[in-house]
Amino acid sequence: MSSERPGLVRNLVVVLGDQLDAESAAFDGFDPARDAVWMAEVAGESTHVWSHRARIALFLSAMRHFRDRLRARGWRVEYRELEEAGNAGSLGGELTRAVGGLRPERLVVVEPGEWRVERELEAAAAATGLALEVRTDRHFLGTRAEFAAHAGERKQLRMEYFYREMRRRHGVLMDGGKPLGGEWNYDAANRDRFGSGGPGAIPEVAGFEPDAVTRGVLGMVAVRFGGHPGSLEGFDWPVTREQALVALGDFIEHRLPSFGRYQDAMWAGEGGGLELELGLGAGVASGPGRGGVRRDAYLHHSRLSAALNLKLLNPREVVAAAERAYREGQASLESVEGFVRQILGWREYVRGIYQHHMPEYAGRNALGAEEPLPGFYWTGRTDMRCLRLVIGQTLAFGYAHHIQRLMVTGLFALLLGVRPAEVHGWYLAVYVDAVEWVELPNTVGMSQYADGGLMASKPYVASGKYIQRMSNYCDGCVHDPGQATGKRACPFTTLYWDFLLRHEALLRRNPRMAMQLRNLGRLDAGRREEVRRCGDALRAGYRAGGG
Ligand code: FAD
Ligand code: SF4
Repeated sequence: MSSERPGLVRNLVVVLGDQLDAESAAFDGFDPARDAVWMAEVAGESTHVWSHRARIALFLSAMRHFRDRLRARGWRVEYRELEEAGNAGSLGGELTRAVGGLRPERLVVVEPGEWRVERELEAAAAATGLALEVRTDRHFLGTRAEFAAHAGERKQLRMEYFYREMRRRHGVLMDGGKPLGGEWNYDAANRDRFGSGGPGAIPEVAGFEPDAVTRGVLGMVAVRFGGHPGSLEGFDWPVTREQALVALGDFIEHRLPSFGRYQDAMWAGEGGGLELELGLGAGVASGPGRGGVRRDAYLHHSRLSAALNLKLLNPREVVAAAERAYREGQASLESVEGFVRQILGWREYVRGIYQHHMPEYAGRNALGAEEPLPGFYWTGRTDMRCLRLVIGQTLAFGYAHHIQRLMVTGLFALLLGVRPAEVHGWYLAVYVDAVEWVELPNTVGMSQYADGGLMASKPYVASGKYIQRMSNYCDGCVHDPGQATGKRACPFTTLYWDFLLRHEALLRRNPRMAMQLRNLGRLDAGRREEVRRCGDALRAGYRAGGG
């Protein structure tokens, strides 16, 4: 800072929309007399990708509540609302303008999660001639440097080894140097399906009545983002830290005990599920069936990803609460380990993959997939019941659980051969928890195998029979998951065999695909030709806008 231009503010602390942690490193040494916080709602962050309206509302409402929380500390918070006249519409543009008015000596920020945003901040700092101090994000248990060191030692970094290392390093579910119960992983106990009676009574997930701030945001989003996908009806996501803690307690007490066992199961109950199916899209989850639809959507899952990604919750407290539930006899080791693995393992691991491999990771397309995303992904209007239900639920709530994302919507795009960048655009748009650092590796790596096996040891491919085994979606579908060709052929099953045929040479090099390829070997030349023809016809139909 030159002496001709004294700063009005010493540190201008930039807080991004997904950095709503009052204990973050950004505030270390914060001096209310000399420092200020800067936050801005910018249209570009909601429109640079298409976005579910509930996702936009969640971010804006949580940001406004966080602003009020900091102001209640007596801190100066410079905040730009979206509706304010002259909003520049981009993060860099708004920040540059704020710097002009406040004349800070330097900018401080915690490592942004998203690669693009960090570059934008660097550019804004350079343009204004200010130093940008980027502080470590203490929200995560691992650091960027630790992951880089870990990854550098190995050709491939599998999640399982990373996870064990995290358990050891942070002393989670450990018995001295050994894993509690003797096993690192109870995955095999996490694959039950519901019986014909369905999931039975599961307590409703905790929901939060919108207060005046949230109602204001919902009204504005409904008008300003009217053309965006997704419903705002029944919006009840936690938008403050207090609410997020209630949501955590609710999950630990009511759903964690059965989380592990039914982690992979899917269900559509009568009444609620069918109503959703018939209504489809915005506004469908109203009326008498709403409770049932909600139960089928969340089942025994935590519904905590959005609160975690906004940093309203700290992963340490979430993991500690789950471990406590085990030690106090409220939940089995299988359930608690299954849950901890998602947070301490997968969540930290995908962040590491993202940070380590961006920006080139976003462009990967190892299988050369070039089909467009079928239009029904935005409407749910398809005769495939599984996709109709999962997409309908997604548009209604901005939520689907992991297996619905991986083994229904993701699987279909993979089998069809959709361009990974388009699949990425869809996942980033439709879920309230979507932030690029977690969404991209899950989509490009785990779901689409577009990174060529960096994350997943083999493509997650299956026929319609997997969906039949793990859900009741196939009951009442016009298709038959057991048939690959013919009038009632299930498109998943047709495209599964077609996928194996299209990528046979590549997959032969992967020993983990041996069993699936052995089964493929049983198809004679005529059958192979028939499957190929049906696969081509399906692709042509979806390209032409069919469902
Ligand atoms: P639970 O099933 O209760 O799991 C507990 C927590 O573990 C979650 O809240 C989440 O924080 C974490 N977690 C679970 N699985 C993963 C995973 N694979 N990667 C990282 N963290 C995980 N998660 C997001 O938070 N944002 C995304 O944008 C996102 N996009 C995804 C895209 C695809 C294609 C797939 C297959 C998965 C994606 N996931 C994403 C991971 C996972 O599906 C969601 O975190 C989970 O469904 C959220 O619901 P929940 O909070 O009820 O999770
Ligand atoms: Fe989905 Fe096929 Fe089952 Fe229909 S039969 S619900 S398309 S898996």
